[in-house]
Amino acid sequence: MSLLALEDIRKSFASTEGPVPVLQGVSLSVDAGRVVALTGESGSGKSTLLHIAAGLETPDAGRVLVGGQDMAALPDAGRAQLRRGTVGLVFQQFNLVPSLTVGANLAFQARLAGVHDAGFCADLAARLGLSDLLARYPEQLSGGQQQRVAIGRALAARPKVLLADEPTGNLDEATGDAVFALMLELARAQAAALLLVTHSARLADMCDRKVLLRGGRLA
Ligand code: ADP
Ligand code: MG
Repeated sequence: MSLLALEDIRKSFASTEGPVPVLQGVSLSVDAGRVVALTGESGSGKSTLLHIAAGLETPDAGRVLVGGQDMAALPDAGRAQLRRGTVGLVFQQFNLVPSLTVGANLAFQARLAGVHDAGFCADLAARLGLSDLLARYPEQLSGGQQQRVAIGRALAARPKVLLADEPTGNLDEATGDAVFALMLELARAQAAALLLVTHSARLADMCDRKVLLRGGRLA
């Protein structure tokens, strides 16, 4: 069974000229332990698709199944639990909690999910090169450092479905490669389903499958 299944997802956004279709019937599934790279031009709807998969935005039509469960069919509490515990999202714009230190940001999602493990968190921080930054606040970090915290926060919660929106977009090539390899390693070790947006053909080639979003559909 696919851990994540998107079925015929459609989404339009309102504009002054009427609704603008962004996703026009996107179907995609990711099995446990598999890594899928999502590519597509800027504005093609990649972030929108990830937000829908994470349950942060509602599709106009179509279904999102996580572990076989239809997100829309769940009661609010069940959907919230799925979002907190099962699905992780690394935002394109990081979305760190500004009032929390790096250490607290790293632990944040795992605590919400009830799986916080200080040792695992410290190990992740070390592997992401964040060990010396744990007492800092997000505004005291560079973009690349913030991005690594965002990745660590998602990984610390050990999600079964991990969605990552251009997770290495702010990192230099060597750091990006190392962080990408870490995400793949953990996803495979935990038999998670990993769907990530990348503009790097090289990184996409490291994934099990590549899909291209164009004209509102997957090519
Ligand atoms: P990508 O991540 O591939 O660059 P996005 O999913 O961010 O693309 O955006 C796809 C299209 O949808 C763009 O034209 C964008 O302007 C539009 N869009 C995204 N979110 C919204 C929103 N909340 N309201 C209106 N338009 C949006
Ligand atoms: Mg985007």
